[in-house]
Amino acid sequence: MRILVTGGAGFIGSHLIDRLMTEGHEVLCIDNFYTGHKRNLLKWLNHPYFELIRHDITEPISLEVDQIYHLACPASPVHYQYNPVKTIKTNVMGTLNMLGLAKRVKARFFLASTSEVYGDPEQHPQTEEYRGNVNPIGIRSCYDEGKRVAETLAFDYHRQNDVEVRVARIFNTYGPRMLENDGRVVSNFVVQALRGVPLTVYGDGSQTRSFCYVSDLVDGFIRLMNGEHTGPVNLGNPDEYTILQLAQAVQQMVAPDVAIRFEPLPQDDPRRRKPDITKAKTWLGWQPTVPLQDGLRLTVEDFRTRITSPNPDSNP
Ligand code: NAD
Ligand code: UDP
Ligand code: UDP
Repeated sequence: MRILVTGGAGFIGSHLIDRLMTEGHEVLCIDNFYTGHKRNLLKWLNHPYFELIRHDITEPISLEVDQIYHLACPASPVHYQYNPVKTIKTNVMGTLNMLGLAKRVKARFFLASTSEVYGDPEQHPQTEEYRGNVNPIGIRSCYDEGKRVAETLAFDYHRQNDVEVRVARIFNTYGPRMLENDGRVVSNFVVQALRGVPLTVYGDGSQTRSFCYVSDLVDGFIRLMNGEHTGPVNLGNPDEYTILQLAQAVQQMVAPDVAIRFEPLPQDDPRRRKPDITKAKTWLGWQPTVPLQDGLRLTVEDFRTRITSPNPDSNP
């Protein structure tokens, strides 16, 4: 098949492309390289079935494809809050353009949505029926509300124009190729531990998250895209950890002597997050297989190759 991946030079997108190329598909990647890098795709750049297109999805584009995995959007708070208006444009105009493309060429369209559509959830764990508790005017809203509109657009193109859509609500995902400076908790802790500087826990560290290793997530993408169900479907690992537990796990694995430093909790930081994956299990036969310890070890090894010189004066 001829498959378009938007945001394919980023963290999750590049792992998805590895998998699609290995399966023998022809893959087109669109990326504006805001948080993505060519180095994530180096092994495919000269492959005859691979094409990398530098393009910003807020502008229209004409291509012929069978499937579209739509991932383009900065995912970490540091990056999506740097230019919030651009984040909204990417989610709204960018998703509109990709749905317009899907409509024209009759391609199946997969949206990488997020657990952030649940906001700071009052239901725990979160099922797909839960409608969320999102602040429309906060500093996370450009992303949360942007993704909510993206979901609305997908379902309206489905109802109005018969576009086949698949919507995944992705929970916190980690693994090799995360950016050192993206401010997300796993990359921050791993980089800090490797540099021997204190791990920065925001608040008292009692807030929880559930961390899915990237290869598990990609497997869920492929099953959802090629299955019968439109979704939305939660894709994430239901094993829930407090942020302090995560800090301690990284500390023990990388640098037992490194300190843990408590810093203020950011505004609108969700208290708890854990997916209910009943739908993914029953509809897709999917559940994560990589335990946190194993995934962390692979992630640490990847960061170790990138962080060559210790720099005790700087935090990531
Ligand atoms: P990432 O930042 O590594 O990848 C996003 C990619 O999109 C980058 O390569 C970036 O350059 C590109 N991009 C951004 N704006 C663009 C634009 N206007 N035009 C073209 N390309 C653009 O992030 P990621 O972690 O790989 O996330 C991928 C998708 O998964 C995102 O849609 C994100 O919202 C979603 N998601 C990720 C997580 C997670 O934990 N990583 C959780 C929930 C949802
Ligand atoms: N679009 C695109 N590539 C295509 C087809 C459409 O980028 O191959 C864009 C198009 O420019 C428009 C958006 O997708 O901004 C929505 O397209 P649609 O046909 O649904 O709406 P219309 O063009 O009628 O407003
Ligand atoms: N966090 C932390 N230290 C850091 C980075 C993040 O304690 O150096 C916390 C953050 O406040 C949040 C959790 O870890 O409670 C997950 O943050 P991340 O930005 O990775 O993802 P999200 O908040 O979008 O789930």
